[in-house]
Amino acid sequence: MTQPQNVFKYCPRCGSKHFNFEGSRSFLCSDCGFHYFINSSAAVAGLIENEKGELLLTVRAFNPNKGMLDLPGGFVDPMESAEAALKREIKEELNLEVTEMQYLTSFPNEYVFSNFSVYTTDIAFICKVKGWNNMHIQDDISDIVFVTKQNIDWNNISAGSIKRIIEAFWNL
Ligand SMILES: [Zn+2]
Repeated sequence: MTQPQNVFKYCPRCGSKHFNFEGSRSFLCSDCGFHYFINSSAAVAGLIENEKGELLLTVRAFNPNKGMLDLPGGFVDPMESAEAALKREIKEELNLEVTEMQYLTSFPNEYVFSNFSVYTTDIAFICKVKGWNNMHIQDDISDIVFVTKQNIDWNNISAGSIKRIIEAFWNL
């Protein structure tokens, strides 16, 4: 019941109740003609390994999925590039500076926040960082862990898209 067609009740332009879901991915107000499309939001995720080849995962500090494991990253701001967003998020969450990044893959996700489904396209990059000495756990994460193919807890990964990104990274 968190999908837009179950949440949006009024036209955001004129306030009319006749804000009709068009059956696929748009709403049309039959009073003022406002046509609103549900598009996917861009989000980014970073794959960072330590010197031992272990993968960095973050622990989510807040809901949704508080306490579950995630990749560093987040939503792309309006008018921001995916690369700039990921550099910003890694700085905000970990105080690490990205020196190299390479696109890997992307997967869709449905992210429920505030009882509302946000459809995302999670875009993954393999990242290298400039040293670990200044790393600081902050912002919307509460901890980090380093994992391997052997010890990763797949049941504790926060989203299907993140699981699929890690599987693609490890060629599983
Ligand atoms: Zn309207």
